Amino acid sequence: MNKREFLKILGLSSLGYTAIPLNAFAVSKVLLPKPVREAMHYIHTARGIRCQICPNECDIKPGETGDCRTRIIKNDKLYTSAYGNPCVIHVDPIEKKPLNHFLPQSKAFSIATAGCNLACLNCQNWNISQKAPDETKNYHLPPADVIKQAQKYQCASIAYTYSEPIVYFEYTLDTAKIAKSQGIKNVFVSAGYINEKPLREISKYLDAANIDLKSFSDDIYARLNAGKLEPVLRTLKILKDEGVWLEITNLIVPTWTDDFKMIEKMCNWLKTNGFEHTPLHFSRFHPMYKLTKLPSTPVATLIKAREIALHAGLNYVYIGNVPGSTAQNTYCPSCKHLVIERKGYHIIQNNLKNGKCSNCGTKIAGVWI
Ligand code: SF4
Ligand SMILES: [Zn+2]
Repeated sequence: MNKREFLKILGLSSLGYTAIPLNAFAVSKVLLPKPVREAMHYIHTARGIRCQICPNECDIKPGETGDCRTRIIKNDKLYTSAYGNPCVIHVDPIEKKPLNHFLPQSKAFSIATAGCNLACLNCQNWNISQKAPDETKNYHLPPADVIKQAQKYQCASIAYTYSEPIVYFEYTLDTAKIAKSQGIKNVFVSAGYINEKPLREISKYLDAANIDLKSFSDDIYARLNAGKLEPVLRTLKILKDEGVWLEITNLIVPTWTDDFKMIEKMCNWLKTNGFEHTPLHFSRFHPMYKLTKLPSTPVATLIKAREIALHAGLNYVYIGNVPGSTAQNTYCPSCKHLVIERKGYHIIQNNLKNGKCSNCGTKIAGVWI
């Protein structure tokens, strides 16, 4: 089932418009017409044009958009309508992405356009992810201006985040190229549902990524997210192969992704495939979007999931969205000494010395300078 069929079953093809509040950035906010720029990674077929950015591989005809609502045909070419027109811009602590092992306490200039190639029933950002760029109020912020804003706000990185950077691929790529040339890092916060060729292309400019591994079941991916598991696992392997610093988030949704046997299977796969030094964040679900009748994830479930992951041999396992939990801290995998103590997005103490545990000298995986 592709995203279009999935939305039809849910009766979600015509979502209401929710305005995104204006914020304090000194750039003008205007409605941009589509299309904006010729898209990358598409081919002509007998049925029209096929986009090959992500595994949905949408066959698009004139007058239609791809499943992500950002791809349209003009003059027999595919165009993106998500370029230079973010609907959200914000300065975030890097810990919010979440990235716990990448330039701690640095600021990330964060941008997102409307659109997404998945349709998660629990989406936190559905009011932008399940919209087309001409349905949101957008800033005019071409790639060079993103860099200027990031510099102005003294951000060490630019984060492509909130909705799904895969669907504003060209905007991300062009911005990331300039950022890299100016010594600003690039951070990709994504569900990882992308084809290999574009991923390899963008990886050359990425410094860090947080990828949502939404479950370890193809069936749940199909019913909860309108996606598939295998392409996401491939993304994890490619990012590792390309040398991008990687952290993984697994949101535990009661009755959907809280099966401990499945969590164990996922952790064993991560260990077997060389991800033992990759931080894994178990994140707490709160009632959202189409799943408002579910309760929040019990804290005990998150604690148990973390124990399973540690037992499987993963070295850095965190619990997110649980204020006050000691499972936000980094502990040395060798001597168990407290290495970084966190409270929310703040660091209370940092016992790292040159990227090593100050107690026993074990190297703590990450990008620390
Ligand atoms: S990026 Fe959009 S148009 Fe392209 S294949 Fe994915 S969902 Fe379809
Ligand atoms: Zn130690």
